[in-house]
Amino acid sequence: MMSSVHNNSKKFPAVFNDLNWYRSNVPCMEACPVHTDSGRYVQLIAEGRFNDAFHIARSPNPLASICGRVCAAPCEDACRRSWIDEAVTIRPLKRFLTERYGSESTKPDEYQRLISDQVDVGCQRPWHLQQLPKGSDRGSGKKVAIIGSGPAGMGCAHDLAVLGYQVTIFEALPLPGGMLRYGIPEYRLPRGVIDAEVATLINLGVELRTNTPLSAEYNLQTLRDDGYEAVFLSIGAMKGRDLNIPGHELDGVIKAVDFLLNVNQGYRVNLGKRVAVIGGGSVALDAARSAVREFYTPMEEIEKTAEAVVNQPAMDAARGALRSGAAEVHVFSLESLEELPSAKTVQGKEELHESTLEGIQLHPSWGPKEITGTDRVQSLNMIGVTRVFDEDGRFSPQYDESKTMQLDVDSVILAIGQQPDLDFIS
Ligand code: SF4
Repeated sequence: MMSSVHNNSKKFPAVFNDLNWYRSNVPCMEACPVHTDSGRYVQLIAEGRFNDAFHIARSPNPLASICGRVCAAPCEDACRRSWIDEAVTIRPLKRFLTERYGSESTKPDEYQRLISDQVDVGCQRPWHLQQLPKGSDRGSGKKVAIIGSGPAGMGCAHDLAVLGYQVTIFEALPLPGGMLRYGIPEYRLPRGVIDAEVATLINLGVELRTNTPLSAEYNLQTLRDDGYEAVFLSIGAMKGRDLNIPGHELDGVIKAVDFLLNVNQGYRVNLGKRVAVIGGGSVALDAARSAVREFYTPMEEIEKTAEAVVNQPAMDAARGALRSGAAEVHVFSLESLEELPSAKTVQGKEELHESTLEGIQLHPSWGPKEITGTDRVQSLNMIGVTRVFDEDGRFSPQYDESKTMQLDVDSVILAIGQQPDLDFIS
């Protein structure tokens, strides 16, 4: 579209491209899964308009308070500021806003203003709160069942409740949140934040049934018979993948998801003194960091004190002093350091950095060959990896059998991927 801009007697041509073109050229907004206008909320924060900024951040995102803490922040990876020096810290700025006005804050009424259309966020994206036809008869109280109360289930429940549907969440575990609660360690995501987001859903009229797994007896047909007109399956991927090498069945070999599930339910898992984690993704790092914390329970107190004085260098020093030394945690990955998924994102790099500060030892380019022991794990045999991906970028690892490493360990944590547990369907 061509127009013109007047300046006294002069005329300057001005080109206003198609709005979609503009959006696809704002990479942070396009990279965000819910297309948050992060540039705008950062700008509003700079202007001191914090509540306006909160409206922008919260409008497309039912779980803004959680994202402000644990989103992988692809927006920061796309940020063009990093071409000059560093990406804008979009995720921490979101947390700054939700701590003031989000569900976990003392002023959650800003959400009420947003949902009752008292503010204009100026965005036409269809799933932004202002675009949802609230109060319409679209839902008309029709019953929808949501299976699983993880982030997908919570997000779906929020928007359907706003649209007027009668939503029930069926959660197999005793508390809601799915992998948010049972997969992500508490030091990364405080449970009070999850509880506050769940409370927002309850206030919207969502019914939550915990300890209610689907089974052969209570299944999709039962839900239909009970009047549910739609079912949203958001069961997550809570089943760890196995590693088919000799010794994988020994005592002391545990899947990362099971380990985190136990730790996050408050159970103590006896891992011994030296632990090997196989895998290089964020679950591997969460498992490794939680394994370190198994040995260092006083850390919580130090973290509280450190947070109170907002003194990050002191906290890092406390972590380093406590965590390097006695207990050893080794992380082995097929990928080289540069190929590690976590090394490719701003947040992932931070996680890696923090993990090494805590004393976790990374061993890139090593593949597991055998776990040995009689009844229980005694050692782990690794071989060198020469490449992980072929010329076309496909996963096709190749090994160098002449390069070997043996490590005596008390436990092996497998963090090589997860899958959904679909037993209830059969
Ligand atoms: S932190 Fe996550 S939710 Fe927030 S703008 Fe970035 S990608 Fe979107």
